[in-house]
Amino acid sequence: EKPLGREEVVKLLREAASSGIKYINYTGGDPLIRRDISEILEETVDLGIDASIFTNLTLLNRDTASKISRLGIEVMTSLDGPREIYERVKGQGTWEKFLRGIDELKRRNIPFHVNITVSKMNYERVGDAIILANDLGADSISIIPSMAFGRALETKSFIGREEFLESVIRADRVAEEIGIRVSVWCSPFLRALRGLRNLYYSDCREFKELDISPGGKALICDVMGIEVADLMEDGIKGAWRKLNENELYLKAKELPVECLGCGACRGGCYARAFNYWGRLPSIDPLCPYIIKLPPRT
Ligand code: SF4
Ligand code: SF4
Repeated sequence: EKPLGREEVVKLLREAASSGIKYINYTGGDPLIRRDISEILEETVDLGIDASIFTNLTLLNRDTASKISRLGIEVMTSLDGPREIYERVKGQGTWEKFLRGIDELKRRNIPFHVNITVSKMNYERVGDAIILANDLGADSISIIPSMAFGRALETKSFIGREEFLESVIRADRVAEEIGIRVSVWCSPFLRALRGLRNLYYSDCREFKELDISPGGKALICDVMGIEVADLMEDGIKGAWRKLNENELYLKAKELPVECLGCGACRGGCYARAFNYWGRLPSIDPLCPYIIKLPPRT
């Protein structure tokens, strides 16, 4: 997919500002790969929209870090664990670049969030990853289950239910030990579990947000990658309307029959559910309440 050019991005940003959009998170891939990212961030903030950027930091140079600092943009990054795990996931030689990026942030007092993707490669070390993120100076920390899409599917490193629950219990214990709270992304079903006092959750069904691909397509969640509109043709309001009229998206918002009488969430992650069962509405395969999980369809 060809990424939108700068003019097209600016056009969308202006429409976003006039439509009352309050916040944009630039994610990827890695948005720092764009040569014009500094200008795009500047335009965003000038239009009165709060912005954050999700980057692995390897491409963060001094100029961009200074601009991020001046614009007051929040940075989010990812950490898989200590060096040996990080490089096993991200590749040889990436650890030093990551640390250099952290250094650029800290030198300028730029607040940063660390997200830990929990996969088969690191679920037993999730506690170490949390401690490390805290020691590096992260202002906030989250964990997210690796999902059976893209590279995680190719390498079969996506997390299973028992492994994820094990890692969540570890995360809670470590968070308690070091006196922090850790958010768990894309796992609203954890609300059903008692005793995880140091974790907190959100549910994307409660957000009013639009996921946009680098090429300007509106998606039903960026993880699913199903296109519902073209921002260049439909505009932001048109894309929002198309998303909310999309049959699959409407089904994603329905309560799965398996969840009747539970009420802890609205069925968990619908991207994972659709990927696993091939239909919606259906229950998140990571939900601990499923008695016996049949094989993936
Ligand atoms: S559908 Fe799933 S992956 Fe997408 S934002 Fe919601 S919880 Fe996360
Ligand atoms: S049974 Fe359904 S509603 Fe209850 S926690 Fe699991 S996914 Fe959420």
